[in-house]
This record gives sequence, structure tokens and C-alpha cells, in this order.
Amino acid sequence: MSTLCLLLGDHLSLNMSSLSSINKQTDTVLLCEVKAEATYVKHHKAKIAFLFSAMRHFAISLQDNGYKVEYVHYNDENNQGSLFAQVQYMVKQLGIEKVVLAKPGEYRLFQDVETWTAKLNIPVVVRDDNRFMASEQDFTDWAEGKKQYRMEFFYREVRRRFNILMDDKQPVGGKWNFDADNREKLPKNLSPPEPTTFPPDAMTKDVIALVKEEFGDHFGDINDFHYAVTREQALEVLKVFIADRLPKFGTYQDAMVQDQAWMYHSHVSFYINAGMLHPEEAILAAQEAYYSGHAPINSVEGFIRQILGWREYMRGFYWYFMPGLKTDNYLQAVNALPEFYWDGKTDMNCLSQCVKQTKEHAYAHHIQRLMVLGNFALLAGLDPEQVNEWYLIVYADAYEWVELPNVSGMILYSDGGHLASKPYAASGSYINKMSNYCSHCHYSVKEKTGPQACPFNYLYWGFINKHKDKFEKNPRMAMIYRTMAKMDQTKLGHMLDDADKFIIKLEQNEKV
Ligand SMILES: Cc1cc2nc3c(=O)[nH]c(=O)nc-3n(C[C@H](O)[C@H](O)[C@H](O)COP(=O)(O)OP(=O)(O)OC[C@H]3O[C@@H](n4cnc5c(N)ncnc54)[C@H](O)[C@@H]3O)c2cc1C
Ligand code: SF4
Repeated sequence: MSTLCLLLGDHLSLNMSSLSSINKQTDTVLLCEVKAEATYVKHHKAKIAFLFSAMRHFAISLQDNGYKVEYVHYNDENNQGSLFAQVQYMVKQLGIEKVVLAKPGEYRLFQDVETWTAKLNIPVVVRDDNRFMASEQDFTDWAEGKKQYRMEFFYREVRRRFNILMDDKQPVGGKWNFDADNREKLPKNLSPPEPTTFPPDAMTKDVIALVKEEFGDHFGDINDFHYAVTREQALEVLKVFIADRLPKFGTYQDAMVQDQAWMYHSHVSFYINAGMLHPEEAILAAQEAYYSGHAPINSVEGFIRQILGWREYMRGFYWYFMPGLKTDNYLQAVNALPEFYWDGKTDMNCLSQCVKQTKEHAYAHHIQRLMVLGNFALLAGLDPEQVNEWYLIVYADAYEWVELPNVSGMILYSDGGHLASKPYAASGSYINKMSNYCSHCHYSVKEKTGPQACPFNYLYWGFINKHKDKFEKNPRMAMIYRTMAKMDQTKLGHMLDDADKFIIKLEQNEKV
């Protein structure tokens, strides 16, 4: 029986579950660059270039490892334009009797795949997606019967189970979580190392030319493309991170600096999410850096928590709460995404900086995504559907399984608090504490009302006031409502007026 193994564009690993029982003599592996996947949202140009180039390089590794590969380029005559049509075409051409793939990372595609057996009239086997350490079932078993789903408790369970940073049954260092040590601003005399970059080879140059030609109207710049496109290069990024950046990763994890995109972060999400690195490799490398005395516990635990905690948790959370998660809108937010999310043209320097870096690199680090771009979207009541689409488009590491829980659960509270115990809402003083953005801004972070006041300041109180019925009884927000009650009510009234006027300006597309 000859089998067709479909490898999706983010399944670029020789250890993929879908490859596990492939007979190299009789079976065929299919990789295809299809229009439907590249355009169902208008992905950042660099994201398409990264995935197409990584796929082309991976096809060579497969051949070097003895697999028979059918690689369908974007402009090939036999390109059928969608995954199903391509599989159907290959099944006919090659006389295929069975199709195998690993579970796609997006609900819409998984639903489509579930119809294939009937449409093709041959077995279509969907294997577990093994680009994670915990399985979907592990999350379901953990979540079942719970009223609250907090990442911290899931994280402790997987740490115990995989014996990561454990000293017998106790967490190494005596605490599960060292987040309290990870909130320093970057001192002026400290410069993070340059990121690890790779000049495009001939194959990548071809892909860049293709992307300019076919996806010229998509968001983002592509002239400075420098990502890793092979596993070897991705391993190099990880190695350099562990050697040069990890020791300071924890302390400056939340810091933001004018014109600095990369900071002490790892920049491995692109590669882990595309299958080029396994999360366990990154976790074990970081753990080893702690045991060898190279990096302190706050950095190592912080980094491991992002991957073993947040990344695993988000994936389980996505499948557990889909499809409802996609349409949830607990705060009934309906405002349109402002144009400056695309062109960066706003006097709010923090937002302008984060959009500019996103456009240039298809990357922004976590606090930029959460506390600047996300915080604004929450405070300004932006429509979750539009915000989700934006995040899915603009980042090279974005796939719905990870993007949607971060956006609808973490930043917008659209899920009504399944993911977060309270909204991540903050005024300008948080951004000022963690960055030097405010000293380059048209607005004044110290002012609360009036034309020069930082919009985050009055939008924050506008948000708190607007959603009083939903949050007043939340024990983690009681203090905020007590503060609001004690405030000078005339001043509060001015802030609420300023917030309303600001939202009207946004609706009227005026520059803010
Ligand atoms: C609104 C919003 C949207 C996001 N969208 C995505 C997305 O589409 N794809 C994506 O991979 N991450 C997303 N994140 C999480 C995080 O911002 C990125 O993983 C991180 O910025 C990637 O850069 P890095 O590799 O330098 O990460 P580091 O800061 O070095 O962290 C190490 C690794 O931890 C993992 N990680 C950290 N935080 C998270 C998280 N919240 N969820 C899942 N994994 C995490 C990533 O694999 C990351 O590579 C989002 C966060 C927010 C707040
Ligand atoms: S003053 Fe406000 S808008 Fe300007 S950079 Fe600071 S937080 Fe952003």
C-alpha cells in the first residue's frame, strides 16, 4: 500500500509523527506552497518568505535522508492552490492508497482535513502533533472539572512530570516562579548583543523575489530578511542565545528600549513553531546552563516557564476552548482597529515604535505585544476579530493555536477570564517604568488629562469605569475600584471625558 505523507509548512522536523511509519521505498512525502494557506490572511511578507524558504531547505534534508519527496513550488504548473486539491491531485497521479499527516495547528484546517476521508475515499490518518512536550489529552485531563484554568498550576504539573528544574519533589531554588526578579528596566550603559542573522542564500533569494512579486500588497518589509531557514541555523540561534543572552534574559525580560527590537530575548519562536527546533531541546539547553553555573535561576526558570509553561498551556487551551474562543467577546468590544496598527503613524511613541519594529522584522517581544499593542487594544475596546487578524498577520511566529489564546485570552479578556484572573490593563506609568519610550513621546506620561496627557492614562480609567459591573467584585481588582471611589470626582470626570473624546477621534480616523 503506498502512502502519501503530507507535511504542512510548520511541520519541518525529521521526527514529525507523520513521518514515523513512512516506507522510504514506496511512500511519498508531499510539501506544497499553496495560495490558500499563504493568503487566507495577508501574512507579513517575511513570514511567507521564512516558511517557503524553510520548506524548500527541509525538502533537501528529507531527500538526503532517503525520502521520496514531491515538492510543489508556488508557481509550478501542477500547483492546485489548496492543500486538499493538491493532495487529491497527488492521490490520483501516484495511485496513493492512504494519506497521513500530523494534526494541523489551526482549527479551520483540522475541520477541513476531517472531511478528506469521505471526499478521497481512502483512509486519511491524522497523528498527534508531537512538536510539544505535553499532549492535548494531558491538558484536557488537567482542565476537566476545573472552574479556573491558571497556567501556573499546569506548569508545575508538567515540570514535575518531565523533571525539569526539580530537586527531588521540590522546585530548584526553592520557588516555582522567579517572575518577581524579572522586572528591571534596561540600564543606559547596557547594550544587548546583536541578533544572530544569516544572509540569504540563493534559495532564499529566489523566495524573496517570489514574495515581492506575488505578495507585494501584504504587510511588512522584506529587504532585511535574515532569519534562519535550516535546522542547523536555528540550532545556532539557540546556542548563541544560551551563551550570550540567557544570563540577562530574566532580569530584562520585560524591558523595552527605543529603537531596540531584540533585547535579551531568544528569537526562537519562529523555529520552534515551525518544527525546526523541539521545545525540549531549548528547555534542556537552558537547564544545563543553570547547572553549569552559566546562567542564574531567575533567567533559566523564566525562559523555561515561557516554553514549558506558556507555550504548552496555550496550545492545550486553544484546542480545549475552540471553537468558542474564536467568537468570544465578553467585553463587547466593537471599535475598529486604527490605521496606525499598519503604518505606525501615531504620536504615541510606544505604539509607533512597536508597529515600526513589527513591520521591519515580523517580530516584537512579549511585553511589546502584551503591554503596549495589546494594552491599547484592550483599553480602546478594539474588536477582537480585527485584533486577532492583525496579530495573525504581522508576526512570523503566528499560528492560530498560539496567537488566539494570547490575544483573546491574555490581552482582550474576550474569554471572560478563563485564561487570566484579571485584565492586563495598565496606564502609561507601566510603560514608563519598563521603557524609555515616554522620554521620546509627544505626550506627557505624567499628565492625566488635557491635550498633552498620555492617552493610556485616561483610557485606563475609562476602561475601569466602563466595565465596573464586570470587575468590581473581582478580588484582584477591588483595590482599583476603591482608589477610583476615593479619587477627586471632578478630575475623574475629566479623564472619562478625555477617554470618550479620544475614542471618537479614533472612530473618525483622526491622527492621535
Ligand atoms: C498578544 C500576543 C500575541 C502573541 N502571539 C504569538 C504568536 O503568534 N506566536 C508565538 O509563538 N508567540 C506569541 N506570543 C507570545 C510571545 O510574545 C512570543 O512567543 C515571543 O515574543 C517570541 O519571541 P522570542 O522567541 O524572542 O521569545 P522569548 O521571550 O525568548 O521566550 C521564549 C519562548 O517562550 C515561548 N513563549 C513565550 N511567551 C509565550 C506565550 N505567551 N505563548 C506561547 N509561547 C510563549 C515562545 O516559544 C518563545 O520563543 C504572543 C504574545 C502576546 C501577548
Ligand atoms: S507618554 Fe504614553 S503614549 Fe507616550 S510613550 Fe509613554 S505611554 Fe506611550
